[in-house]
Amino acid sequence: MGKLILFLIIIASVYFLFFKKKEIKNENTDESKDLILCDKCQTFYPKEEIKKINGKNICRECYDNS
Ligand SMILES: [Zn+2]
Repeated sequence: MGKLILFLIIIASVYFLFFKKKEIKNENTDESKDLILCDKCQTFYPKEEIKKINGKNICRECYDNS
């Protein structure tokens, strides 16, 4: 009985770690996909905050300040 519980704990741990890793991986890929580096202030902003001006990525803040 003790061995069975240990076995189940190991399976559960592997299962949990696998899903945790998968989640983190998905989050990272989503972030790198949606964040764009502003060429002016060198800060990452979400895609919708970035404007393309003369081939450069400019964030809303830099755009408003210029
Ligand atoms: Zn900026």
